[in-house]
Amino acid sequence: MSAPLVRVRGLTKSFGAHPALRGVDLDVNEGEVTVLLGPSGSGKSTLLRTVNHIEKPDAGFVEVNGEIIGYRLVGGRLRERSSREIAAQREHIGMVFQQFNLFGHRTVAQNIIEGPVAAGVPRKQALRHASELLERVGLARRENSYPRQLSGGQQQRVAIARALAQRPTLILFDEPTSALDPELVGDVLAVIRDLAADGMTMLIVTHELGFAREVADTVVFLEDGRVVESGPPDQVLDSPANERTRSFVSAVL
Ligand code: ADP
Ligand code: MG
Repeated sequence: MSAPLVRVRGLTKSFGAHPALRGVDLDVNEGEVTVLLGPSGSGKSTLLRTVNHIEKPDAGFVEVNGEIIGYRLVGGRLRERSSREIAAQREHIGMVFQQFNLFGHRTVAQNIIEGPVAAGVPRKQALRHASELLERVGLARRENSYPRQLSGGQQQRVAIARALAQRPTLILFDEPTSALDPELVGDVLAVIRDLAADGMTMLIVTHELGFAREVADTVVFLEDGRVVESGPPDQVLDSPANERTRSFVSAVL
């Protein structure tokens, strides 16, 4: 049994006096999908943002592929890495947000190749890869479109292609379908489902419980900054041990 690709240990984060994460432990094995559930304000976004060091933890750490994110172990102590080193670590951690966050004044292709080109991939090669990725997310030949010419669901699939362009070891999704009209949700979930079948390691915040049941290897329920329940989807969704999980699941279903 190899070590988990992602190891979160004792992750703690407060905003002012307000604790958002109170000692979160979490593993994600390579090639597996973990779905994070929990009520609004339970710390799901903060957890994802701490995994790629957009937020710095107050205590605890995140390790991806054997490397502590944002820190280096020096003489038994954690020292913050340089912003350049942190950027290099982040390159391999894709993030897809609820609001797509595409650059509106750049074409689809420009959005996708920006990261790889900045990291030194030749432009031509990056463009070729972008075309392949667009095909993979069902948007073949949309290279020269602008985000405003696309539906929300198409924009979100471009955002996924942009994350894939960095050849990530891990992709974080923060409610990727919450901002979409209901009829556009399915196409985005289908792309994520394909990635799961392909063995992409993913940590996904979603309220789509049917989807969670289908793709998750593990479902983790967060409440008030703590993991209160974690296990295979049928266990957590069908027979939750925790009272809060039970009421959440029955409210969402
Ligand atoms: P979730 O994604 O589960 O809805 P969040 O991680 O966004 O929860 O938030 C967890 C808690 O931390 C909430 O109480 C929220 O108000 C607070 N919080 C999150 N981000 C910030 C911030 N940048 N400044 C202050 N408080 C924040
Ligand atoms: Mg959130």
